[in-house]
Amino acid sequence: MPELPEVETVRAGLAKWVSGRTVAAVEVRHPRAVRRHVAGADDLIARLTGARFGPAARRGKYLWLPLDGRDEAMIGHLGMSGQLLVQPPDSPDEKHLHVRISFTDGGRELRFVDQRTFGGVMLDALVPAVDHPSQFVPAQVAHIARDPVDPLFDDALFSRRLRKRDSAIKRALLDQSLISGVGNIYADESLWRASLHGERPARMLSTAKVDELLGHVRAVLAEALIAGGTSFDSLYVNVNGESGYFDRVLAAYGREGEPCLRCGTPMRRSAFMNRSSFWCPSCQRPPRLRR
Ligand SMILES: [Zn+2]
Repeated sequence: MPELPEVETVRAGLAKWVSGRTVAAVEVRHPRAVRRHVAGADDLIARLTGARFGPAARRGKYLWLPLDGRDEAMIGHLGMSGQLLVQPPDSPDEKHLHVRISFTDGGRELRFVDQRTFGGVMLDALVPAVDHPSQFVPAQVAHIARDPVDPLFDDALFSRRLRKRDSAIKRALLDQSLISGVGNIYADESLWRASLHGERPARMLSTAKVDELLGHVRAVLAEALIAGGTSFDSLYVNVNGESGYFDRVLAAYGREGEPCLRCGTPMRRSAFMNRSSFWCPSCQRPPRLRR
């Protein structure tokens, strides 16, 4: 599943290679790739043809291209394995090419390729964002909070809302209506850096601790953005579920039984919402474990 840094890499690629260009033709080769567009493939094709893409935008893991002069945008859902590729028109069709968008300038095509069929493209109406009504976002994104690397993210508002939550801190970090872009791996890395166990109740944290944690979340995402950004200059806009970040040393995620990089205690793994949490039992005391 692509996380925020990979999606941001794709956004930057779209901004560079697709924004400002006018659609000449749309070919839907696999109907499931447009199933989210409820009016159907023919409607999608008719509305996209002749449209000019505006600046590529993102909120959390949602990615879209507004259509110039219209109150709608094309959303790209990457799903588990979706890729948006920018390819020369004469390059061979990919095995799992589902949607092809060609442009009036005759240059590189935008191709949606997916080994599975969980992702796709659709058009959605632009509406005011719930947390920032002067900004227009696709309707299905309106309830998604900003991510902490967004310049308009409001730290004080986040802290106030977080400390009213009844849930544990890790669950709150993964709640997209509170903060977006923090996946399971980045949550574990941030909590380890903050020496905070993910099961601690969010409402018990001091504002200072929330600020510290937010700083770690930002640092982890920024490091991953740099690692994921290595393909910015390539002609290939790609998300394949892999991240440059995974090549780096992760301090918590996936390190069960290995020594904590801070104190040497063997790291633990526990079940978390069908996934796993990795943590140091010495640095990150669980809430019910008494000293
Ligand atoms: Zn430790």
